[in-house]
Amino acid sequence: MEEKTIFELIVDGKIPCNKVLESNDFLAFHDIHPQAPIHILIIPKKHFKNFQEVEPDLMSKMTSFIQELAVLLGLDKSGYRLLTNCGKNSGQEVFHLHFHMLGGFELPKNKEEKSNPQALF
Ligand code: AMP
Repeated sequence: MEEKTIFELIVDGKIPCNKVLESNDFLAFHDIHPQAPIHILIIPKKHFKNFQEVEPDLMSKMTSFIQELAVLLGLDKSGYRLLTNCGKNSGQEVFHLHFHMLGGFELPKNKEEKSNPQALF
């Protein structure tokens, strides 16, 4: 059996996290290495390696959870960036589906990032 990822251990309560919002299906907590003034990770409690493997039905529930989180953080009006790394070429490090929510300042635009593809991640 494959070893559990750090995010599964967080879901199991074996590793602590700085929780922001929780529902029956999802958990949102602060990233330990924030790349923005607000940097939250959103995960499903059920294990999926990444976006490519997730059940589409779960994504519709996840959308509501993410929208609620944005309101809670006061990012719904100021805006935020939502991204997920999927697979090796994306640089995904933790193989349990997660979305990064970044906000709290004006994020660099794609044009600026092109000169440094590693920017923000
Ligand atoms: P990714 O490259 O998309 O797989 O991102 C993994 C993210 O998880 C990185 O931004 C890490 O800083 C973050 N991370 C790793 N371990 C923890 C942890 N125990 N608690 C919170 N964030 C974590």
